[in-house]
Amino acid sequence: MLVHKKILLLALAAFFALAAGAAAKKPRGDERSTFRSYYTPDYLAFKARIMEEFSKAKAGKFSEFVNYRRKETDKSLDQKVIAFTFDACGGKHSGYNKELIDYLRKEQIPATLFITGIWIEKNKETFAELAKDPLFEIENHGMMHRLCSTEGRTMYGVHGTRNLSDVVDEMELGARKIAELTGRRPVFFRSATAYTDELSLKVAKRLGMEVVSYDILAGDATRSGAARMSKNILSGARHGAVVIMHFNHPEWPEKAALEKAVPELRKRGFTFCKLEDFTVK
Ligand SMILES: [Zn+2]
Repeated sequence: MLVHKKILLLALAAFFALAAGAAAKKPRGDERSTFRSYYTPDYLAFKARIMEEFSKAKAGKFSEFVNYRRKETDKSLDQKVIAFTFDACGGKHSGYNKELIDYLRKEQIPATLFITGIWIEKNKETFAELAKDPLFEIENHGMMHRLCSTEGRTMYGVHGTRNLSDVVDEMELGARKIAELTGRRPVFFRSATAYTDELSLKVAKRLGMEVVSYDILAGDATRSGAARMSKNILSGARHGAVVIMHFNHPEWPEKAALEKAVPELRKRGFTFCKLEDFTVK
């Protein structure tokens, strides 16, 4: 009986390993039709130039925190600002957490929304409404929600880019899509799962975007409940912290978590801001 169980477990492990491998290699959805209108001669020439510039560059380290430096808190300043960021990943997960957004509006909490091209496609009206609300900053979560690795690495079975060409498409086409709809080109990029390699960071910089990871993992994506999420936010809270959450899962408890955390953060003297208002250059 025990032996059978072991074999079953091994078979399951093998199945998941294979599934993750397949996810890494298979292009997501019908990329050709998604990209077709963007593949103009001008764009292809632009991409070829970028590819040439980086043709000899090495991929470098692969992590959620490549070159990511936590900003030191300046204790002499009586300033406590925290940045809430919410991703909308798209694909199978193209929902809209309206309750959460309504809560942010009611409480007048500014936030940065990292949105993919494929989420926008499924939520055009909602996107337009969010984009014109000055409470929110729209930033780039990639065209297709592909983890950016120039050598085809991936995490958690998420679809990744296969090479440098895919990385440029993911970052640049995501930025162009947002810019053409809002009139403002994104200045920040967050890769799917927040994993990237060092070369992807350089490519983003060349394209005029800064890669943003996070300081506080609220825990919605790992299915933490509202109480746990609130605890995660409060225990990590410090001046300059970037909190990562999502707004594409209406069934997730971000609103309940913030209802617990926000009054306490305010009591501690924190205010909230968008990333664009926060980056001190
Ligand atoms: Zn995502």
